Amino acid sequence: MSKTHSYKLVLLGESAVGKSSITLRFVRNEFTESQEPTIGAAFLARNITCQDYTVRFEIWDTAGQERYHSLAPMYYRGAPAAVVVYDVTDRNSYEKAKKWVQQLKEEQRETTTIALAGNKRDLPNHKVTIQEAQEYAVAEGLIFHETSALSNYGITELFKELADKLPKK
Ligand code: GDP
Ligand code: MG
Repeated sequence: MSKTHSYKLVLLGESAVGKSSITLRFVRNEFTESQEPTIGAAFLARNITCQDYTVRFEIWDTAGQERYHSLAPMYYRGAPAAVVVYDVTDRNSYEKAKKWVQQLKEEQRETTTIALAGNKRDLPNHKVTIQEAQEYAVAEGLIFHETSALSNYGITELFKELADKLPKK
């Protein structure tokens, strides 16, 4: 039996960028066009097997709506892992994602390993280029992938890289 490392993971980002869809794709390999808006937060878990250990992600999928913003610190406090999501066709959601990254860094004092996901890659008319987000991610020390919950692109890679990078006790 290999050792299992468990981590609380939070998803943050503007409403409708695809946080719940990424979670459901990763945990159940499902996608729905009519994903119900999340109220408060939902909890789901999945294990992934690495070389000689297993990583268990205990995922808190929060509601990104402004009116729930004050609830967010309650969810991310003490979380070793965060996925901050934006929609590649929505510039405003990218600016918002950068704010989440800054907030996490300040309040968690760099104890959270952060991955940035540029979701809805399958759609045309991207307003944020891979190059721009990549440069930002490198400067901030973030994992970065463009993803599509719809076509199942980049999501496994994102979580695998997080599993690799998270500190093992
Ligand atoms: P959340 O509010 O961030 O949790 O966003 P949801 O997961 O509820 O998704 C919002 C809407 O975007 C839903 O209609 C989803 O079906 C859609 N959606 C989510 N991910 C993708 C994606 O990768 N591509 C496309 N085209 N639509 C997506
Ligand atoms: Mg949601």
